[in-house]
Amino acid sequence: MIIYLNGEFVPETQARVSVFDRGFLFGDGVYEVIPVFGGRPLRLAEHLERLTRSLAEVRIDNPHDRSGWESLFTTLLEKNPGGDRSLYVQVTRGVARRDHAFPTGVRPTVFAMVNPIVPQNPAVLEQGVAAVVVDDHRWSRCDIKAITLLPNVLARQEALDAGATEAILIRQGLATEGAASNLFVVGDGVIVTPPKDRSLLPGITRDLVVELAQEAGLPLMESTIPEQSLRVAEEIWLTSSTREILPVTRLDGRPVGAGVPGPVWRRVHGLYQDYKARLRET
Ligand code: PMP
Repeated sequence: MIIYLNGEFVPETQARVSVFDRGFLFGDGVYEVIPVFGGRPLRLAEHLERLTRSLAEVRIDNPHDRSGWESLFTTLLEKNPGGDRSLYVQVTRGVARRDHAFPTGVRPTVFAMVNPIVPQNPAVLEQGVAAVVVDDHRWSRCDIKAITLLPNVLARQEALDAGATEAILIRQGLATEGAASNLFVVGDGVIVTPPKDRSLLPGITRDLVVELAQEAGLPLMESTIPEQSLRVAEEIWLTSSTREILPVTRLDGRPVGAGVPGPVWRRVHGLYQDYKARLRET
C-alpha cells in the first residue's frame, strides 16, 4: 500500500511518525473517512466540509484548500488501484515535546491511506445484525471527528463480546448514535433520526439517507429517541460510510419488530444502492 505522509507518497513500510507526534501522545487530531465507489468519492464536498469544521473546532490549521485535498486524494487513489475503497485522512497537531499547551511553529502531521471496502455479507442484509445498548462515556463534543476514540473502541468491543455487531449509545436517557454509526428508528411507519447536535457525529451517510427518504416522500422526522423507543421500534438502522445502512434485527438479545430487516429499510437501502450506481456512472 502507498501511504501519503506529510507531502510524500511512500510505501507503508517506509511511513514513519515520531513518538512525539501529538496524535500519539494526546490523541490530538481529527480524521475523515470517505467512501469511493467506481473511483468516485461519495459526497466529497460534504466530507471536506466536515474535515474543515473538525480542524477549525480544535484549532488546527487546515493544511490544504479544497483543490489541494482533491489532488492529494486523486494521486493516492491512482497509486492504490482497486475496486470500492475508502480514503482515510488524519491530521494531528504535529510533533513537539510533550506539553498540553499548543506548540508554536509546528506543522500538522498529515496522513492518508486507502482501504478496501469489504462488500456487505449478503446474510447480513437478509438477517440483519444484533446490537446492544450501552452507556455513552464520551465527551461533550461528539460532533467533532476526533481521533480520540477510546470510549468508542470500548463500546464496540462490549458489543462484540456480547455477540453483537454494534453498540447503541445512551446519553441522559436518549439513544444518540452507534459506536461508529448514526441511528435511525422506524415507529408507526415514520423514520426518526436524532437531530444534529454536540451529542453525535453529523454523519454524511445520515444526511444522504435523510435526503433520499425525503425525496422519495417517505415520512421522516428529526427528533430525539428515548431509550424506551428502541424497545418498541418497528425497525432500527445504523448508517456509516463503510457499512452503509445496516438493519438491526436484535437488540439486547430480543427481536426488533418482526426480527427481520423491515420494509422501510428495504426501500431506503434500495434508494441508496441506486444512488451509488448513479455515482459510478458519472
Ligand atoms: N458516528 C460515529 C461516532 C462515527 O464514528 C461514524 C463513522 N465514522 C458515524 C457516526 C457515521 O458517519 P459517516 O456516515 O460520515 O461515515
